[in-house]
Amino acid sequence: MKIDIMTLFPEMCETFLNSGIIGRALKAKIVDVKCHQIRDFAYDKHRRVDDTPYGGGKGMIMLAEPIYKCFENICEERNCRPHLIYMSPKGRVFNQEAAKRISNKFKNIAILCGHYEGIDERVIEEIVDEQVSIGDYVVTGGEMPALILTDAVLRLIPGVLSDSICFEEESHYNVLLEHPQYTKPSIWHGKEVPEVLLSGHHAKIEEWKIAKSLEVTKKYRPDLIK
Ligand code: SAM
Repeated sequence: MKIDIMTLFPEMCETFLNSGIIGRALKAKIVDVKCHQIRDFAYDKHRRVDDTPYGGGKGMIMLAEPIYKCFENICEERNCRPHLIYMSPKGRVFNQEAAKRISNKFKNIAILCGHYEGIDERVIEEIVDEQVSIGDYVVTGGEMPALILTDAVLRLIPGVLSDSICFEEESHYNVLLEHPQYTKPSIWHGKEVPEVLLSGHHAKIEEWKIAKSLEVTKKYRPDLIK
């Protein structure tokens, strides 16, 4: 999978992308993620990327043309037209199903990060294929939302995690939340790890995990059971 992130703050994204599991997958060339500075496609001498909104109102709106040019450049570099996702509070709320869909359906995606009050609507109409929100609240910029989507999608790509079982047993993969997890020591602050997990009896451990998974989902997210 190849991902191109269009942003005014590539350094914010690069710090995250070069760390941890995603950083390892990038170094091993299992996946490819590039950040593109939208400002590099500004057309005036001040490298301007925003302006005041028509009709009045506070804040600045990102200009259409630098975004359009930035996407054109990505299409040329990749020699294809990636599926373009605009991170936006107006989009469909992201979840594990959407992460699965995107990772299965597309080999190339581009992600557009807004900033300030948002983006000129005309470029959204012209090039954006899909708008995705990380939840019903507003954050300052699209960079963190883009990284959340990138992480959730890339960890489903074979080879990024050591084994697909790592995500198949996790919360939301099959609707339910994950059972509680424990590690050493077996007694901590007087609290013991459930005996069944120390038994080595695989069938009983599986039964326990399913029962606990249901219990946790009923307790914290009863809406998922419905
Ligand atoms: N004025 C916009 C509105 O009311 O819909 C919000 C603009 S927000 C301050 C700036 C940028 O942050 C947006 O263009 C978008 O890229 C990103 N953003 C903010 N909240 C988001 C969310 N919940 N999901 C995805 N992106 C978000």
